[in-house]
Amino acid sequence: MGSMSELYQNVILEHNRSPRNYRTMEDASGRAEGNNPLCGDRITVWLKVEDDVIRDASFQGSGCAISKASASLMTAAVKGKSRNEAQRLFDRFHRLVTGKPADDEPETLGKLAVFSGVSEFPIRVKCATLSWHAMANALGQRGSGAGGQ
Ligand code: ZN
Repeated sequence: MGSMSELYQNVILEHNRSPRNYRTMEDASGRAEGNNPLCGDRITVWLKVEDDVIRDASFQGSGCAISKASASLMTAAVKGKSRNEAQRLFDRFHRLVTGKPADDEPETLGKLAVFSGVSEFPIRVKCATLSWHAMANALGQRGSGAGGQ
């Protein structure tokens, strides 16, 4: 991956090898699929939203190391977040991987900052954001009894 730092590469490879939250979810309130034909990445994301908070997030699928590691880190990052917080995180992540981060963002994004190098590889942006788009779609679905805006 060219100039991506070794540390960042290692985090991505490690999450690709042993992805977090890699499972289906029976009682999900939302489920969405992401498909990136350019690279062959296919990912399904499940969310369990209660009282406007993402209580659980999981994914399954196949694809390149970046798409899988991104989905792994995404599910870990959105757990415990409100709908709005998760959406804002996606916006910031999207700016990061498209090379338009605001000044304070690399630190506040925590581990997600490992994807900053993706901005140098435009074809990889879809790989990195695939699971986030699926998450946002699943977030828009309302399970029975779910309130909120
Ligand atoms: Zn990919």
